[in-house]
Amino acid sequence: MPKLPNLTAAEPIPAAAQAEVERILQSGDLFRYTSEGSPVALLEAEFAQALGSKFALAVSSCSAALFLSLKALELPRDAKVLIPAFTFAAVPSSVVHAELVPVLCECGPDYRIDLEDFHAKLPSCSAVIISHMRGHTSDMDAIMAACDAQGIPVIEDAAHSLGTTWAGRNIGTIGKIGCFSFQSYKLLNAGEGGILITDDADLVARAVIMSGAYEYNWKKHPVLQESFTKWQNELPLYNLRLNTLSAALIRPQLDVLARRVRDGRRNHDHVAQLLQQSPWIDVPKSLAPEERAPDSIQFNLVGMSDAQVDAFVSQAAALGLKAEVFGRTQDNARAFWNWKFLGDLPELPLTRAMLSRACDVRLPARLEVEECTTVAQTLLAAMDTIMAADAA
Ligand SMILES: *Cc1c(COP(=O)(O)O)cnc(C)c1O
Repeated sequence: MPKLPNLTAAEPIPAAAQAEVERILQSGDLFRYTSEGSPVALLEAEFAQALGSKFALAVSSCSAALFLSLKALELPRDAKVLIPAFTFAAVPSSVVHAELVPVLCECGPDYRIDLEDFHAKLPSCSAVIISHMRGHTSDMDAIMAACDAQGIPVIEDAAHSLGTTWAGRNIGTIGKIGCFSFQSYKLLNAGEGGILITDDADLVARAVIMSGAYEYNWKKHPVLQESFTKWQNELPLYNLRLNTLSAALIRPQLDVLARRVRDGRRNHDHVAQLLQQSPWIDVPKSLAPEERAPDSIQFNLVGMSDAQVDAFVSQAAALGLKAEVFGRTQDNARAFWNWKFLGDLPELPLTRAMLSRACDVRLPARLEVEECTTVAQTLLAAMDTIMAADAA
């Protein structure tokens, strides 16, 4: 079989970004509120425009964006926030950080919010975070209808779904606030960083101040100035600003985003179609309104025992391919039973069953189709080996 591609290597940072970083280093001006034509402010304007949102605030991570979003909603201390039980540990952590209480909602075998559990738990909650985990979009029509009817704000954790659309709308613009990540494994890579978008001027004014726009630095944000004067000195400063260099790394990547989305989707759909040939593998379908922007693939191992699941992962590793079943690896940060910092953890049988069979393989947009074929063939070969051995 042809050699496997490297699934963890990143794409080079565009030359335009390297030149801009060099220019900034020469100037020594690394702080967003002092630099002339601040790259952070430019990134905010460009990102908001690209997504079709009124306002954007760049911060140090998506987790910081989630935390600030919750603070900007002005919920009472210990209010409940409904979050998916299938998400990254940083999400419940942001809720705890904001002195709120996460309520975990079941997720089904298609990795999305289980609507029955959602409807049951929603009335006791004051806000909702929807994580579009690994870019899988939950049914935003049903979620928004229920939340709007009950006046409950929705924050979209779109950290890993930049470029996805739902019925033609950009993910992150459907709820009240959308949060994105610029961490290395996401579609725009600055190593670290995040951004939040919203159409709510008063809310973004609160978030801007709390992100660390102390004194009159908020004058450098193009938001209704009366909102700012209202909040001057009324809010704490958490200092979660984005570094100028990080913004300089991201801005030229906005130009290649469409290409990354297109190639990632092509790679994913190609591998999905090959994997579906195995009777032991099921790749859940997208929901009808959803156009995905994947940089990885998830599939369920069906009709296999725990031992067979583990043997499949080991066999893939022996062939040089890292495949991970979320709930079968030690201390996985996406397995809710490892979030011991929450105290008493609920039993969530639907999510637990999904996590113990859902397999995760990176599939970066920079891969060629032939390389993706090799990834799929390696997974199928690993499956053949262990299932044939068991049949014998
Ligand atoms: C990566 C990720 C986060 C955290 O993003 P950071 O920028 O690293 O804080 C949160 N939620 C999801 C779904 C993610 O994929």
